This record gives sequence, structure tokens and C-alpha cells, in this order.
Amino acid sequence: MEKGTRLIHSGSEGDPNTGAVSTPIYQNVIFGSEDVTSPGQWGYSRIGNPTRSALEQTIATLEGGQYGFAFSSGMAAISAAFLLFAAGDHVLVSRDVYGGTFGLAHRLLPRYGLEIEFIDTTDPATIEEAIKSNTRALFIESPSNPLMKINDFRSIAALAQKRNIVTITDNTFMTPYLQRPLQFGIDAVVHSATKYLGGHSDCLAGLVVTDNPRLAHEFKLLQVYLGAVLGPQDCWIIMRGIKTLKVRLEQQQQTAGQLAEWLNARPEISEVYYPGLAQHPGREIHFSQAEGAGAMLSFRLPDGETARRFVNRLRLPVIASSLGAVESIVSLPAIMSHASLPEDMRRELELDAGLVRLSVGLEELVDLQADINQALAQIS
Ligand SMILES: *Cc1c(COP(=O)(O)O)cnc(C)c1O
Repeated sequence: MEKGTRLIHSGSEGDPNTGAVSTPIYQNVIFGSEDVTSPGQWGYSRIGNPTRSALEQTIATLEGGQYGFAFSSGMAAISAAFLLFAAGDHVLVSRDVYGGTFGLAHRLLPRYGLEIEFIDTTDPATIEEAIKSNTRALFIESPSNPLMKINDFRSIAALAQKRNIVTITDNTFMTPYLQRPLQFGIDAVVHSATKYLGGHSDCLAGLVVTDNPRLAHEFKLLQVYLGAVLGPQDCWIIMRGIKTLKVRLEQQQQTAGQLAEWLNARPEISEVYYPGLAQHPGREIHFSQAEGAGAMLSFRLPDGETARRFVNRLRLPVIASSLGAVESIVSLPAIMSHASLPEDMRRELELDAGLVRLSVGLEELVDLQADINQALAQIS
């Protein structure tokens, strides 16, 4: 079955009991049993809920794994992934990850004895050098946030497997429609389903998929005992979003590609970061593991003041730290999503104040171009 068809027919859609095409919302906590000694399939919704289970099966099918888990937000899913590990474990994390992941790994996890080290994961040799005897995990994103750096899943997974290190990747930017990291040997995929999967800026959600039964067992324990599970209404909203993922993402990607080329030719803009551009570092690796460049791009204006004036003058994109929605969303990572990074790290990562991140929505290309044109005209 083609991936576009799988979005509609994942095998867990609808309700076999009634023929309902849309999965029912089991807005319900307890499921009574007939006999105290033989409980039914469902008991208590934190442990299992049929609507959540349908979403979990859907995302597992789409990512090509056996086990799916739905959490109350992307950060809850990412927290669960880090909590697979224990005090004394060394965990390697890509230097330019999502700001929330950075905050969790930098500010909270060391309190619990996890030894976190941020490294440049675009080069397998750097990873190899950073591995210690207590290294247990490697957390990456590809493309990364916000400079769209590419990590090579195949070589990272091969390296980690040799050393018994669990690999986890955040697949929010690409979605399983464009990239399925498990097929390259990555152990677990996490998502902020708040973004492309939901797609409409109306629902926070997080998802995890793995094909590894031992990790699946642990994720189940984390769902049951941390309790950060996704409610049935929100599961339904994400399932509805997934059904239109193909048409949204294909269109957004096409517009993003055209915008990236157009911005790249503008004299006011010094650099455009988009995996679809010919000069993008890691482009070949990206297209060996993904089926498209996606709809996220970043570019540089000369300085923070210019970037602030430009963003404030845009009329169509919403100014917010989110992405993956039907409306375009613009942000300045240095003062928004990545504001929690220490100053020296921001400088090292070249996340300077002039960097603009754009999540390309479903508006028409010509309208986005006209809007960007008028905003650029007012700052120059
Ligand atoms: C938004 C985002 C998250 C966090 O997800 P929430 O649903 O906001 O908790 C994690 N990773 C990436 C790449 C994101 O864009």
C-alpha cells in the first residue's frame, strides 16, 4: 500500500461494531467487567482507552513500528524517552535540538543524575569520540531545529548498535509521510503531533513509536505511572489531522520549495536553510533517508533589529513558536524557541538574532511572496 493510502487506511480506523467511519471518542474512564475474576480488554483509561489505542496503532503503522504510544504533548513524549534511562547514564543529545528538548535535558534531567552531553551529531566521528562506557542513549533530530542540519540515520544507528546505545529521533519536522527513521535502524521515534500530524494549531499531543519490545514495555510503564496520556478527544483530533496530512504537506512543501529558491535569490537575505536547496549541507544524506524537503525553512537577515522589524511587518504568518499548521508561522529562534540556550551556545550554533524561521502554511505562494516583499521593502 502506498503511504498516502496508509494515512486513510491504517487498519485502525472506524468502528467495526457499528460501521462508523470515524473512530468513536470513548470519553470514558472505567470499563466495567461482568466477572471480577476475568476483567475485559479495557479497564481504566490511563492504562488503555480504545480511542487512544486507535491513534497509537495508526502512528505505529505509519512509522513502520509495532508499538505506538500517545502522550499529552510532544514534551511529555520526549520526557518519557529520556526517562528510559537512569542516574549515572550518559546521554548524548544533538546540540541544535528543539528548544524545549534542550531545556529538559539541560535544566531538569541533571537533577536526576542523568549525565547529558550536547554534541554535533552531523558527523559520526564526533559521536564516536563522545561515546563513553556509560553512554546509553543518543537523541537526535533530522533535519534539526532551526538550521535544518542533517543527521545520517544509517551510520548513526550502525554506530550505536555496535555499542548497545539506544537511538531516539524526533521526527516532528518530517512526519512519517516523508521520513520513517525506524527503517534505518533508529530504535524509537518521538513526535510533537501538535504540529503537522494535527496540523491545525488546535491540539497538543505527543507520540512515540518503537519496534523494540523491551523499549515498548518501558514506554507502557511510563504511560501508566507518569500518567501523561492523551485524552480521547485529542486522540480523535490527531487522527482526523492525519487523514489530510498528505494533501497539506505536499502543498506546503511545494510552496516552501518555491519560497526557498525565491528568498535565496533576494539580496537582503544572506542565507537560506532548506534541505531542498542545491547548496544545503547534507542534502544527499537527507534525500537518501527522506522523501521530500518538508515545509520548514530558515533564513538570515543582517541583524536582530532588522529581523524584528521584518517579522512585525508581516501580515499573513502568525508570529509564534510553533510550526506545521495550515497557517504560516514565523519566529525568531534566538528570542523565542531557543531563548533558553546559554548565550555562548547560541553563538556557537550560529543562532544569532537575525535568524528567521518560517513554517510554510497553506496560503498561496503569490500572497506569501507579496507579504514578504512589502515587509522587506519597509526594512531596507
Ligand atoms: C513543538 C515541538 C516539540 C514539543 O512538542 P509539544 O507538543 O509542544 O510539547 C518537540 N519537538 C519539536 C521538533 C517540536 O517542534
